[in-house]
Amino acid sequence: MSNYSMDTKCVQGGYTPGNGEPRQIPIVQSTTFKYATSSDMGKLFDLEASGYFYTRLQNPTNDYVAAKIAELEGGSAAMLTSSGQAANFFALFNICEAGSHVVASSSIYGGTFNLLAVTMAKMGIETTFVSPDATEEELAAAFKDNTRAVFGETIANPALTVLDIEKFAKAAHDHGVPLIIDNTFPTPVNCRPIEWGADIVTHSTTKYMDGHGVAVGGAIVDSGKFDWMAHADKFPGLTTPDESYHGIVYAEKFGKEGAFITKATSQLMRDLGSIQSPQNAFYLNLGLESLHVRMPKHVENGQAVAEFLEQHEKVVKVNYPGLKSDPYYDRAMKYLGNGGCGVVSFEIAGGREAAEAFMGKLKICAIETHVADARTCCLNPATSTHRQMTDEQLNAAGIPAGLIRISCGLEDKKDLIADIEQALL
Ligand SMILES: *Cc1c(COP(=O)(O)O)cnc(C)c1O
Repeated sequence: MSNYSMDTKCVQGGYTPGNGEPRQIPIVQSTTFKYATSSDMGKLFDLEASGYFYTRLQNPTNDYVAAKIAELEGGSAAMLTSSGQAANFFALFNICEAGSHVVASSSIYGGTFNLLAVTMAKMGIETTFVSPDATEEELAAAFKDNTRAVFGETIANPALTVLDIEKFAKAAHDHGVPLIIDNTFPTPVNCRPIEWGADIVTHSTTKYMDGHGVAVGGAIVDSGKFDWMAHADKFPGLTTPDESYHGIVYAEKFGKEGAFITKATSQLMRDLGSIQSPQNAFYLNLGLESLHVRMPKHVENGQAVAEFLEQHEKVVKVNYPGLKSDPYYDRAMKYLGNGGCGVVSFEIAGGREAAEAFMGKLKICAIETHVADARTCCLNPATSTHRQMTDEQLNAAGIPAGLIRISCGLEDKKDLIADIEQALL
């Protein structure tokens, strides 16, 4: 599929049925797989042969969908996980251990910030957070001898900052470590971070990839480009024998293209078990089949809503990288030429009370803790996800009490704008 365009890969990537086989990917709803002899199965346990034996490690339905996502991102291998949180944790923990250090953009999803700042810190993995706008010097100063990865989001949820992927990739590579990019918001339809130097790409497939609010899931894609052996001392998990698999060395046996995903599957899935259900992988694939059709519409609606809000007297400020007035406009033009996503945030005059009143009047836009759905939804962090914080704390975090996040769905933009207009009255 690698020569086909994005649109064709979205529809047909990852699965090519043979004669008389199902046209749609089969849901292999089976925990286990049968073998004629113990030695046949033994080869799978030794990673001497590839195949299926237990769905916690691998399942054909998941593999079809992972292969499609690998093609979409231009990667060499991919795996599905039960959620976006699991994807980011696995991507990091596959190369970090107690005593490791991570450099991460401070402008990331709250769940990922917590994962790094609290949960992984408890595991002995320390993170230095840097501004997504850090200079080369500031970035370089964040690295330590034990730094093992750099992490950021292409378009951050919910701040809508755009990362300078090339700059972060250069800093990572100058220090001999990979750049991991969470590409959830633009999806590969609007940005392919590997083309800009990212080594590993992660997704919360719960968002646009599914796009219909039906299945929580995640994915990890390896570019196959990072040379683990060239930095062997930093990544012993990939470059020295794994005693739990008769001493195989992942980077030797599976090469640059296969080592990362094989290790994450055979060690982390085996031990931590965060597999996506085959049924959810099937739903995810249905979403992927129309991703290239849906993303331009999300962008069109996001742009129209952002432009409408920008000229409204009751709106203090709008964040949307597609607006010329947005500080990330130039970077968006570089990395997101087709537009970024359908998520817009804005500050309403009158703070918390005005935000609550506005949201109460909306008819099409529903109040939800979700984004990137076919149906438009919105959220006021001050009265929901961040309600434990005072106005002063909210301002310090760059989340004013009157901030509202709107995730523009696939409805008609005229109806969306009319709904927002009547609610602003
Ligand atoms: C939602 C989200 C996550 C977490 O994904 P889940 O599927 O909810 O676990 C991670 N990163 C980004 C950018 C997200 O938007």
